[in-house]
Amino acid sequence: AFLTFEGGEGAGKSTQIARLAATLRAQSGRAVCVTREPGGSPRAEEIRTALLDGVAKPYGPFAEALLFSAARIDHLDRLIRPALRRGEIVLCDRFIDSTRAYQGAAGGLDPGILDALERVVVGPTRPDLTLILDLAPEAGLARAAGRGAGTGQGADRFEAEALDFHIRLREAFLAIARAEPERCAVIDASRDPDAVEAAIRAVVASRLPE
Ligand code: C5P
Repeated sequence: AFLTFEGGEGAGKSTQIARLAATLRAQSGRAVCVTREPGGSPRAEEIRTALLDGVAKPYGPFAEALLFSAARIDHLDRLIRPALRRGEIVLCDRFIDSTRAYQGAAGGLDPGILDALERVVVGPTRPDLTLILDLAPEAGLARAAGRGAGTGQGADRFEAEALDFHIRLREAFLAIARAEPERCAVIDASRDPDAVEAAIRAVVASRLPE
């Protein structure tokens, strides 16, 4: 099974992925592969470093989308697809919906270009379930600042975008969830981590019974 986690900055994705991975390892007896985008494979992590550099801003939106795509191809070929073929559960921190939201809705890149890239790059390897951790951007950015990012120094260049960028981002994730309700579930991430974890477990149990 292929599960992806999406949401804005500071929504708690990494915490929740680690918790769900532990639960699934204990409950299912199957191997659980935890990974992230951009990155996830050694070469894709190199592209991540180039993309998230907070100082240099060398790429335009289309070149940037192609770099995200190149990283995703490598990640899918070297890590995600082999793990799925071995019967593992794959939990991925960000995937296609981050591209649609960050580069598309919030970043202004033509959705037709992004759709075409998605077809070519992802093909049939679509997530079985996407958990969208929803949180007001003000709260998420404050959390991200608390962990050392968003302060100028530690912030990657997406975290450093203006508030209205993050508001568009949230709207984009919610619109994706409305458009694809069979794949997506929206989780209220404003609650404490235990409550969010319980909500995620409930959704996984009902949507992916095994
Ligand atoms: O979730 P995480 O903080 O690891 O994401 C890394 C950064 O990459 C985030 O700031 C996110 O905004 C950005 N990103 C992006 N487009 C994607 C995926 C991630 O702009 N498709």
